[in-house]
Amino acid sequence: MFPRFTLRYSRLPERFYERFDPVPVREPRLVAFNRPLAEALGFDLADFDREQATQWFSGNAVPPGAEPLAQAYAGHQFGGFVPRLGDGRAVLLGEVTDREGRLRDIQLKGAGRTPFSRGGDGRSPLGPVLREYVVSEAMHALGIPSTRALAAVTTGEHVVRGVPEPGAILTRVAASHIRVGTFQYFAARGDIDGVRELADHVIGRHYPELETLQDGERYLGLLEAVQARQAALIAKWMGVGFIHGVMNTDNTSVSGETIDFGPCAFMEQYDPKMVFSSIDEGGRYAYSNQPWIAQWNLARLAEILLPLIDADSERAVGVATELLERFPDRYEAEWLAVMRAKLGLEREETGDRTLVESLLDAMHKGRADFTLAFRRLADAADSRQGDAAFGELFERPEVAEGWLASWRERLAQEPLPEGERTRRMRLANPAFIPRNHRVQQALTAAMNEDDYGPFETLLDVVTRPFDDQPGREAYQLPAAPSERVFRTFCGT
Ligand code: AMP
Ligand code: MG
Repeated sequence: MFPRFTLRYSRLPERFYERFDPVPVREPRLVAFNRPLAEALGFDLADFDREQATQWFSGNAVPPGAEPLAQAYAGHQFGGFVPRLGDGRAVLLGEVTDREGRLRDIQLKGAGRTPFSRGGDGRSPLGPVLREYVVSEAMHALGIPSTRALAAVTTGEHVVRGVPEPGAILTRVAASHIRVGTFQYFAARGDIDGVRELADHVIGRHYPELETLQDGERYLGLLEAVQARQAALIAKWMGVGFIHGVMNTDNTSVSGETIDFGPCAFMEQYDPKMVFSSIDEGGRYAYSNQPWIAQWNLARLAEILLPLIDADSERAVGVATELLERFPDRYEAEWLAVMRAKLGLEREETGDRTLVESLLDAMHKGRADFTLAFRRLADAADSRQGDAAFGELFERPEVAEGWLASWRERLAQEPLPEGERTRRMRLANPAFIPRNHRVQQALTAAMNEDDYGPFETLLDVVTRPFDDQPGREAYQLPAAPSERVFRTFCGT
């Protein structure tokens, strides 16, 4: 039933990881299983054996052909460098080739103490496992590159995070779990051969089009490719109001996927300075800082690749700097493309950026809900009947009316037939995001009442984010004041 492994990471030199089998748990119970993803990965579901699956996804049995390991990595955490982090509670079972021929990592998160655990217990509470499950699947459904959730298992054991909480394990699927911090691990040890080997592995895996380039160009190409994916990724986050919360270099994937959903959250009222994470006191990872943090993280990768880019360090610094300096333009272009789509603009006109900014400014001043405002804009695209519903999201609806007038002037230059514009805008502006209070309610019901109904319903709602879903309108609404979530916790 388990697809055959195509092992790759375990074939890299031994200093890249520690071989480590998951630590068995007392009483595993499979509480979530992603059948469509399993299907896509090549699981044979015709003879799906729940008991067997529970054993595998809890780490109580190792699937045939797996060579479980914990990956080594380092990282800048809130700007401070830690030379040895690594998978302190995650175990990579190995890679499989999915039905589209793509390599995919299968990892158990919360699988026990590894040689990288430091002071940690190697485990995960149920809450963060379910949060990552629902948010990562929502991201994927929103068309945003992300790791995926294949299964969640409760362990029958408790983990203590201040108070005892039920323990759980998430089975996570990724294009890879290689991070900027993985490069930093070797660089911090002066292990340039390790850096080169890792770079070649990443190129082969994520950027095979670079393989034919000459040495220096190939590694500069790698930096450029990672930069392009990060720029596109962050622009997409910004387009849905997503705040990652912990954009450390060890949480920055070189494949360009969203990874490590800790205290992440979706904004409701638009506020560019928004921060949710309880540990982000300085607001380093605030919504509007995200692009510049991505650039900072890329600079850390660039420093490491310098000796591979050119043996002449001055020349290497010159070309890498020139490349990094292109990040803002690249990001802005991606962001503007996202925002044009949200506004129903197909053509590129010089005033577009101002038009977007004036909307965001009105939303900020008017305390409008980010997701609803854009969704209702789609309804206003072809008919003024949508104007009132849009306007009422703003504290002073006149501000919204003024903006709608300038938007309509701009729409007059657009070639799209009317129904088509609405249709496309609805695919750029989700009706449903995993609203923080809904996520909280789903987690609480599972943890306190052993009731997975709210989790399952929420998952179903947010994995069809662009459909109207009659009967589920309440899931579109922001939190009532009493339900509002102001802080999110790593809780990991
Ligand atoms: P994270 O905050 O999940 O990105 O993790 C940062 C680092 O701490 C990584 O090296 C994790 O493997 C490690 N870590 C997080 N939680 C635990 C835990 N419960 N036990 C051991 N290591 C952990
Ligand atoms: Mg992490």
